[in-house]
Amino acid sequence: MTAEISFMHPSEREFAELLDYYRIPYLYEPRSFPLRWEGNRVVEMHTPDFYLPEYDQYFELTTMKQNLVTQKNRKMRHVQELYPEVNIQLLYRRDLMRLMGKYGFGPLADVTDRGTERVLFSEEQIQARVKELGAQLTEEYAGTEPVLIGVLRGVVVFMADLMRHIDLPLQIEFMEISHYGEEREDAIEVLRDVTTDLKGRHVILVEDIVDTGLTLRYLLSHLDGMGPASVRVCTLLDKSVRRVADVPVDYIGFEVPDSFVIGYGLDYGGRYRNLPYIGVLDLPEPKAVAQR
Ligand code: IMP
Repeated sequence: MTAEISFMHPSEREFAELLDYYRIPYLYEPRSFPLRWEGNRVVEMHTPDFYLPEYDQYFELTTMKQNLVTQKNRKMRHVQELYPEVNIQLLYRRDLMRLMGKYGFGPLADVTDRGTERVLFSEEQIQARVKELGAQLTEEYAGTEPVLIGVLRGVVVFMADLMRHIDLPLQIEFMEISHYGEEREDAIEVLRDVTTDLKGRHVILVEDIVDTGLTLRYLLSHLDGMGPASVRVCTLLDKSVRRVADVPVDYIGFEVPDSFVIGYGLDYGGRYRNLPYIGVLDLPEPKAVAQR
């Protein structure tokens, strides 16, 4: 579908490709919202770039300078006033590039990083928090034998520490999913699935970080199909400011800001997983890209 649409701007095509990757249906510029009338004639309207029917959410992309974005923001607020039932969100060029860079394409894929810019959580802070999470899970899953499922590879360090703080009989499982640019370019694909029969089992899906929530949304629907008694999500890090999909996250180690983080299992370009702490990646701003 994406290949046939003529997009107004390259970043719109990139966003469309990302949605394809996550198998999220979208409509491109499906509807205009009249904003100002002279008599019966509409003299101003706004046409958001994308609509995601599954989320009932409109997205407007912007690559513009800050002063122009202010105008755009005002316009979007106007839409909200006149159409309060409409969900609309502005997506900045920076957000989109980070999202792309994560999957190895777009301008951020090629920039050279400079390691850790600053430490967010020290080894001691992480260990203390993981211990607390383990104690909480031990209490809440008492009397059951849960299955912990981790998604490779970022989760290995957290999983290894967390399970040793859960004082219950349990099993562990790992799943692996494909990333953009590898074997298949257009979708999330399960490369390694769980082998334990999950029917009637209490599942704890263990994640390193929930960012947009799109991966999690896919995994939850995948696991639901296997008939577990319950599925809850335990993530070490939650980057909730960037959430796109409305997914339930039951246990959270730490909330993180809108920065790319590394260490304690998390990588950038395959490196830094072995850092004992979690830090913000020092990434130079990418060179200016075409302005809209
Ligand atoms: P989501 O689908 O956007 O929620 O992405 C989740 C996955 O993206 C995580 O499991 C990580 O592998 C990766 N990810 C997201 N944010 C970061 C980050 O700041 N550092 C490292 N990996 C990240």
